[in-house]
Amino acid sequence: SEIIRLEEVWKIYGKPPSETIALGGVSLTVRKGEFFAIVGPSGSGKTTMLHLIGGLDRPTRGKIYVDGTELTAIRSDSELSRYRNKTVGFVFQLFYLIPRLNVLENVELPLVKRGMPKAERRRLALEALRTVGIEMLAYKYPTQLSGGEQQRVAIARAIVGSPRVLLADEPTGNLDAANSQIVMDLFKRLNRELGMTIIMVTHNLELIWNCDRVARMYSGKLLGIYTPEKYSELI
Ligand code: ADP
Ligand code: ADP
Repeated sequence: SEIIRLEEVWKIYGKPPSETIALGGVSLTVRKGEFFAIVGPSGSGKTTMLHLIGGLDRPTRGKIYVDGTELTAIRSDSELSRYRNKTVGFVFQLFYLIPRLNVLENVELPLVKRGMPKAERRRLALEALRTVGIEMLAYKYPTQLSGGEQQRVAIARAIVGSPRVLLADEPTGNLDAANSQIVMDLFKRLNRELGMTIIMVTHNLELIWNCDRVARMYSGKLLGIYTPEKYSELI
């Protein structure tokens, strides 16, 4: 069964004559529980697609459905914000932790936005930290952590509210090989053990072997969707 559907999605930045067609009519579906990769050269529209699915931005044309809700029918920003907070979790190349907050407080943030009582927030944040294997860092501050540890904090923050979909934009882009492997193993566990649907943008082709299917973008168009095996034969 499907969890995400894009129907003829366009995203055009700017106005003629200096417009950029970031997405030029993309249609695809992602299945529930799938580990889905989006690949393609720089500027091909990968991040734009992830942002539209995550409700960080709205398409110029077309429809997007996530978990039974038509995202593109949501008109108010506050409702879109509620969607982001509840349905999706984001992980980025730069970790975007808040330096003045300790690890536990960073992980609690999405729950603070939901108005959850403190004791319950604490419990869920500690559980998320345990899931990513860094419970012992709960009272450290982001600047005291390595890049790999910071990314695991960011992943804990992304999953603390039990989102249906995890969206990751070049999650290993700032990590060395060993930490990239830790993050990928973690994603595979979240995917297999917790059934989390994961959509990951990457240009590291070694990472696609962790995924179920690979969407290939070029110049704002979806060229095709492949298994990792088929994709590796193409290139
Ligand atoms: P990718 O993630 O594959 O590198 P992006 O989705 O970031 O590609 O960008 C697709 C195209 O849209 C690029 O040409 C980029 O310059 C353009 N673009 C992205 N964001 C904006 C923006 N906020 N304003 C104008 N153009 C943008
Ligand atoms: P609110 O709208 O209630 O202030 P946000 O939408 O900012 O809440 O936060 C929801 C999620 O979206 C957070 O996990 C945050 O990391 C992410 N987010 C919000 N804005 C951006 C942005 N411009 N770029 C990347 N991620 C963002």
